[in-house]
Amino acid sequence: MYDIIVIGAGPAGLTAALYGCRAEKKVLVIEKNSFGGQITHSPRVENYPGFAEMTGMEFADKLVEQVLAQGAEMEFDCVEKIEGELGNYKVICTDSEFTGKTVIIATGSHHRMLGLENEEKFTGDGISYCAVCDGAFYRDRTVAVIGGGNTALQEAVMLSNICSSVTIVQNLDFLTGEQKLIDEINSKDNITTILSATVAEILGDDEFKGIVIDVNGDKQTLNVDGVFVAIGQQPENEPFENVAPLNDYGYIVSDESCTIANQTGIFVAGDCRTKTVRQITTATADGAVAALAACKLI
Ligand SMILES: Cc1cc2nc3c(=O)[nH]c(=O)nc-3n(C[C@H](O)[C@H](O)[C@H](O)COP(=O)(O)OP(=O)(O)OC[C@H]3O[C@@H](n4cnc5c(N)ncnc54)[C@H](O)[C@@H]3O)c2cc1C
Repeated sequence: MYDIIVIGAGPAGLTAALYGCRAEKKVLVIEKNSFGGQITHSPRVENYPGFAEMTGMEFADKLVEQVLAQGAEMEFDCVEKIEGELGNYKVICTDSEFTGKTVIIATGSHHRMLGLENEEKFTGDGISYCAVCDGAFYRDRTVAVIGGGNTALQEAVMLSNICSSVTIVQNLDFLTGEQKLIDEINSKDNITTILSATVAEILGDDEFKGIVIDVNGDKQTLNVDGVFVAIGQQPENEPFENVAPLNDYGYIVSDESCTIANQTGIFVAGDCRTKTVRQITTATADGAVAALAACKLI
């Protein structure tokens, strides 16, 4: 019987484990993919306080090491379901089953990808999914933003203040973001919008060279230095539908308290919950809040 079972070993889950262990609780972290979470895909992190520059992998390695040193146990498995009640939750995984007094869901989310050849190869080196994270690497350079919703438009506005030019590529024949943002886009001299266009190809052998877009059947090459894909995010919350309310986009409904309605012993932390800013800082903050709430309950 664990005191706290943490699902997901990203910054949120690992921070929760750290706080749980330091409160002398018996903690298990279950991870299905990579210990460290999505930040392991980032070649450069420059906005985590106290660290001017590091790779995502360096950050993840240090955090895993710190959590293991505090006594957390780690299992590599995929959680498929949670059953039970406060004091006796059963966490059912593909290959094993664990019981815990409390559970913290910290399963994160992933950015929707274009699904094109070369996309993974150039992620972090030409292709990005986060202007807040990577925009500064494209200072005075040319970029394209793929998407036409609020996130894409906000990213385009932000990038227009850093980059020499920004081209928005939207698959529909109109932008779906708020009118206020559309007005802001239209007022910027260095933003161009191409509608009814999809990305057909990502160019480059060893180095990213740009993209080919399909505009109503007409192929055009955009020799941009970088592409920001903003076509939505996908949380990983399907296994928890029976214990947590999900919003229309699949996020677990919660707030800064990291609690879940009608579930006293299950908490949620990080990118997988409803929130406005999805960054390492906000994920680690949630991890601390969720773990301390769980400790208090135990
Ligand atoms: C390329 C890239 C660059 C980024 N750069 C920055 C940056 O510079 N600065 C910054 O602050 N943020 C950056 N971010 C965002 C940051 O990585 C996230 O905000 C942060 O990782 C969220 O932490 P999390 O713990 O909530 O979720 P995640 O990091 O997504 O971790 C969740 C973990 O849960 C696991 N999991 C999911 N489902 C299950 C399951 N059923 N069973 C077991 N395990 C499961 C996943 O495999 C994953 O490892 C970047 C993201 C990307 C992709």
